[in-house]
Amino acid sequence: MFFSGFFGYIYHIQQIVYRLILPRFILFYKHTLIIRKSYLEKELNTLTNKLLLKESWNFDNSYIHLPEKLFTKQDPAPVKEPKLIALNNPLAKELGLNVKELESNEGIEVFAGNRIPTGADPIAQAYAGHQFGYFTMLGDGRAVLLGEHISPSKNRYDIQLKGSGKTAYSRGGDGRAALGPMLREYIISEAMYGLGIPTARILAVVTTGEPVYRKTVLPGAILTRVAASHIRVGTFQYINHYGRTEELKLLSDYTILRHFPDYIADDNRYSYLLKEVIKGQAELIAKWQLAGFIHGVMNTDNMVISGQTIDYGPCAFMDTYDPNTVFSSIDVNSRYAYKNQPYIAAWNLARLAETLVPLLHDDQDKAVQIANEGISDFGKIYHKKYLNGMRAKLGLFDEEPEDESLITELLNIMVKYKADYTNTFRSLTLNNLNSMDIFGTEEFKLWNDNWNDRKNKQNKSSEEIFQLMKNSNPAIIPRNHRVEEALDAAVSKDDYCLMDKLLKALSNPYEYSSEQEEYTTLAPPMSTPYRTFCGT
Ligand code: AMP
Ligand code: MG
Repeated sequence: MFFSGFFGYIYHIQQIVYRLILPRFILFYKHTLIIRKSYLEKELNTLTNKLLLKESWNFDNSYIHLPEKLFTKQDPAPVKEPKLIALNNPLAKELGLNVKELESNEGIEVFAGNRIPTGADPIAQAYAGHQFGYFTMLGDGRAVLLGEHISPSKNRYDIQLKGSGKTAYSRGGDGRAALGPMLREYIISEAMYGLGIPTARILAVVTTGEPVYRKTVLPGAILTRVAASHIRVGTFQYINHYGRTEELKLLSDYTILRHFPDYIADDNRYSYLLKEVIKGQAELIAKWQLAGFIHGVMNTDNMVISGQTIDYGPCAFMDTYDPNTVFSSIDVNSRYAYKNQPYIAAWNLARLAETLVPLLHDDQDKAVQIANEGISDFGKIYHKKYLNGMRAKLGLFDEEPEDESLITELLNIMVKYKADYTNTFRSLTLNNLNSMDIFGTEEFKLWNDNWNDRKNKQNKSSEEIFQLMKNSNPAIIPRNHRVEEALDAAVSKDDYCLMDKLLKALSNPYEYSSEQEEYTTLAPPMSTPYRTFCGT
């Protein structure tokens, strides 16, 4: 009785342990193991990401060794809730960066300014500039340069965050940017890249999870801009105005070493610096004109020494050919109208030449003469590049004296009949002469005969002519209504389909694919002209 009672009791306890406690304990133990495993996995992931990121970004910062006057050390201001909106995969590849890492939490934190990647040494750059003709002290008011990244092919790129918070140069601004304008910069700069026009590019756009206050409350965003450098005409104006000649010399030598290294040991290197910048800008502006691109805010602080296009605030592409076209709402005197762009570029370069006078020659008169010669070269180089570009758009391989009047006559007819700039050249390329009103006019028919005579003068097949025209006349440009439509879907509806589709079409505007067809359609007539805004 005692035993059966005692063993019965033990047996009972045993059963409780086996059936109830043990399975629960095993379950609990298993559970803690799972939690621990996932915790360890997460830790390992973070660690690997950190290690990979360390290897991926390859900073080597040279600008910070220039005189301190040229910059202020400035970390980006952290944001609440970063979210990756756009990542430029081909550019990431060109930079030797791993897309997976860039898309990871740590990668996004870098784009948001919440994490400084290894090797970065953030600064806000100082510069001055003529804005609409008036000289002002400026500087990065809403941007920081994280540093200079060296790609696997040993190219040096500035990595800049725009919209990253206040700096010493914010002048009352909030240092922030809104999503719409940042995506617009992404779309237009990629379109420029596709067109073969030198440009700074956007690696990523993130939203901040914080509002920005403009006319309305807008979602805040930061973009990562990749540029050959951000040395501006305004950087030279700044050091010339606020610095010593020795500092101007240091900036000039640095710029030569970075962009025109072949001249670094040359006694006349400062003359070459001026010449090369003038050449680069003449070529750039010719490309803008040929594509119908209107920058909109060609202040000297927005013109870079590297010859790339930067600052995509109020820019837009011209639809109807009209040399007086202006899109920017603040350009009330049409200073930066399409037809003025080459003259404004020369004016800006004259400001650069002035700053270099102390370095061009010991004799001031001779220095001024060198500067003037440089500036007069701009017109010559620009004119030649523009004419040759127009020849190619018309399928002309060689040069004949009558070419200039042939080009001017066509442009005049386009003005008269309000012809769409891109579509006119596209239709000429495709020999699709029923597609637009202009082609039915007497003036055009006469011009067409002259053009055919001119084409026949050269010993080229119609296939060769077609190929030259196809490679010189984009089938599509980022038309304003299509850009707006894509931005609206993205910002208001969080729908990026239209933007992705537009970006894909713009990646090779010379393809003439059936997918591109829909982007050749003009906007419905508007009661007010299209307007753009800057400083947004
Ligand atoms: P932009 O018209 O974009 O070339 O800008 C001209 C100047 O204004 C530059 O110095 C910018 O850094 C500065 N800026 C533009 N927007 C802001 C902003 N929201 N906060 C501070 N500075 C700004
Ligand atoms: Mg600017």
